[in-house]
Amino acid sequence: MAELRALVAVKRVIDFAVKIRVKPDKSGVVTDGVKHSMNPFCEIAVEEAVRLKEKKLVKEVIAVSCGPSQCQETIRTALAMGADRGIHVEVSESLGPLQVARVLAKLAEKEKVDLLFLGKQAIDDDCNQTGQMTAGLLDWPQGTFASQVTLEGDKVKVEREIDGGLETLRLKLPAVVTADLRLNEPRYATLPNIMKAKKKKIEVMKAGDLGVDLTSKVSVISVEEPPQRSAGVKVETTEDLVAKLKEVGRI
Ligand code: AMP
Repeated sequence: MAELRALVAVKRVIDFAVKIRVKPDKSGVVTDGVKHSMNPFCEIAVEEAVRLKEKKLVKEVIAVSCGPSQCQETIRTALAMGADRGIHVEVSESLGPLQVARVLAKLAEKEKVDLLFLGKQAIDDDCNQTGQMTAGLLDWPQGTFASQVTLEGDKVKVEREIDGGLETLRLKLPAVVTADLRLNEPRYATLPNIMKAKKKKIEVMKAGDLGVDLTSKVSVISVEEPPQRSAGVKVETTEDLVAKLKEVGRI
């Protein structure tokens, strides 16, 4: 019988299909009244942990999210996908990767987990830092951008996507794994499982309960939309194209 425990970090982000709008004061993006969902790479991380549980290689899957109260919806989604219980670390301020990493590292130790799964990056800030920082704080080995995960006794084999090929690592547990797009195709939560998830437990705590300091050394100065592209022109002939390119100094 498997004794391994997995913690999966799930972030609540603006849904990938929403057109992002910047606040007029450039302090951030508009989030009020905007559809949010679980970060797609976190869905892949949950799926992987749940599959290991279904193969009886992992005993328990715990989903954790840090952020406002609505993060509990994100945790419920993970529970409906098959996670066993949830932890909501309630914080009102928006957190950077290092603050989240501090929370995750504390929880990983507290819950005595063997595997910590994260998404390779969050689609809102595109930081791609939290997994690496958490592994650093814990001094655990890390397999980032995982496209295949295989448990081998007290080790985990991680195939990872690197420029121009694949790299295979063998990590001694406990370890941090971050999920890339091709790791799996996450399941949709079925209605019966959504109903069942309502009965699963979500523990709510504050960062202070874990003794974690959330002060950040980074402040956002300005958030701006990318510059608008000016309209193109149609040319009739190759000669016209060459003339136009010369005119705008491209050739
Ligand atoms: P990032 O480093 O911001 O690109 O995020 C990478 C991964 O870290 C995400 O896919 C999540 O697994 C995890 N993560 C980041 N922020 C949070 C958060 N507020 N709550 C839970 N997990 C998070």
